[in-house]
Amino acid sequence: MTDTAPAQTAAVQTKTNLLNFDRLGMEDYFRSIGEKPFRASQVLKWIHQHGVDDFDAMSNLSKDLRAKLKDVAEVRAPEVLFEQMSDDGTIKFALRLESGQAIETVYIPEANRSTLCVSSQIGCVVDCSFCSTAQQGFNRNLTTAEIIGQVWRVAKHLGTIGQTGERPLSNVVMMGMGEPLLNIDNVVPAMSVMLDDFAYGLSKRRVTLSTSGIIPGLDELAGRIDVALALSLHAPNDELRNQLVPVNRKYPITELLAACRRYIANTNATNRVTVEYVMLDGVNDSDVHARELAKVLRELPCKINLIPFNPFPQTRFACSSEERIDRFGQILMQAGYTVITRKTRGEDIDAACGQLAGKVLDKTRRAQRKVIPILPVA
Ligand code: SAH
Ligand code: SF4
Repeated sequence: MTDTAPAQTAAVQTKTNLLNFDRLGMEDYFRSIGEKPFRASQVLKWIHQHGVDDFDAMSNLSKDLRAKLKDVAEVRAPEVLFEQMSDDGTIKFALRLESGQAIETVYIPEANRSTLCVSSQIGCVVDCSFCSTAQQGFNRNLTTAEIIGQVWRVAKHLGTIGQTGERPLSNVVMMGMGEPLLNIDNVVPAMSVMLDDFAYGLSKRRVTLSTSGIIPGLDELAGRIDVALALSLHAPNDELRNQLVPVNRKYPITELLAACRRYIANTNATNRVTVEYVMLDGVNDSDVHARELAKVLRELPCKINLIPFNPFPQTRFACSSEERIDRFGQILMQAGYTVITRKTRGEDIDAACGQLAGKVLDKTRRAQRKVIPILPVA
């Protein structure tokens, strides 16, 4: 005899992760479950200001609502896999995602501010030749929950939310792994939670998106959120930038700088762009390059950040000498620019810029590709 009853499969109920929502998203969510939208700001406060992930602790919600939320929702952030503290106080966190992969998030305490360097993707497709994330290839975009979850997890882990009510962080830079403008739909709501007074309440001048120069993304960003902008320029002409930042072939310097001007005209967060320039010995660091850079940036309100190159295994680049960096900076200052040479932080734990390389399961097979050496340009 055959059993004709339909197979009983246990319904796998996936709960909605509330870390995926900014305020508007959260209001929509509460409407969708038949609740009043004002619950959104109450719940955002519990989650992001008090670090609470247990609905039972949300004491200004009715018992019924708490029970309902326990059934259908969750607050799930990446877990700390390990942390490494540098001699200078910088802490690198490896965070484990539900998919089993790891990403890196770096906490940088300073006298008058604390900055979190947040990742936006697992790996990166842009493939800049001096960046260790690029060597890892690309796996996928992070979700909004995984992006804001880095902030939530580190703040909670450091114990600075929930207990003292103090703001755990003053600055966030989207300068970890990945190109944020290639994941704009998840990055924008995450940054919106960073800015929201019911969540982290950061100043829009203190949330910075750094990009290799994705022009359509830049134009879209200005209409969606107000944050400070950093541009990874790294070369004063297209010929050299094509080699260092290959996306330049698609979005060349003149058009890119015009897009940056449009961005600052359309945002209230800042009236100038931070131009990032990594100092590569014998590649982009000559006096001629400095003068060319001064010329090319003439029309862009900006300040210039010179970033000492952070080496990583098997790189063919070296960092420019201190004297070279000083001289390069002087030429730019004489041309009227504000120039800051970025202090390298967390170098002893590989947490410095461009050294963030999680365990990426590469989908591009880039790691297997032959490395084509770049010729130093005089
Ligand atoms: N993808 C974005 C943001 C992440 S990279 C971008 O490229 O802007 C953050 C910054 O670190 C960028 O300015 C990047 O060019 C720089 N960087 C990458 N590799 C580096 C390295 N090895 N040494 C120093 N800076 C590096
Ligand atoms: Fe990607 Fe930025 Fe690294 Fe370039 S520098 S490969 S854009 S993470």
